[in-house]
Amino acid sequence: MKALEEFVAYANAQDMQPPTPAETASDHKTGRDPSLRLRFRVMKRDNFSCRACGASPALKSGLSLHVDHIKAWSLGGETVEDNLQTLCEPCNLGKSNVL
Ligand SMILES: [Zn+2]
Repeated sequence: MKALEEFVAYANAQDMQPPTPAETASDHKTGRDPSLRLRFRVMKRDNFSCRACGASPALKSGLSLHVDHIKAWSLGGETVEDNLQTLCEPCNLGKSNVL
């Protein structure tokens, strides 16, 4: 019983933790990661090819495509179809938060 009381106290203390800065940086209506359904819609719209260089897994085997925030989520961009684009892995990794 004592252990349970301690656990409840511990759990309540966890609830009192302030949110991390990343979560308070801006008011997002959407979560950071697009759903699988949204990712698919964005890739389909972009013909499953990179919007920056045009690379496509159909032409280059082993290439992975990422769905990227046009305006970075960390800068307040929302996870909506209009703010998402298909990028190949090299382009996405090179872009980071640069607009
Ligand atoms: Zn690319």
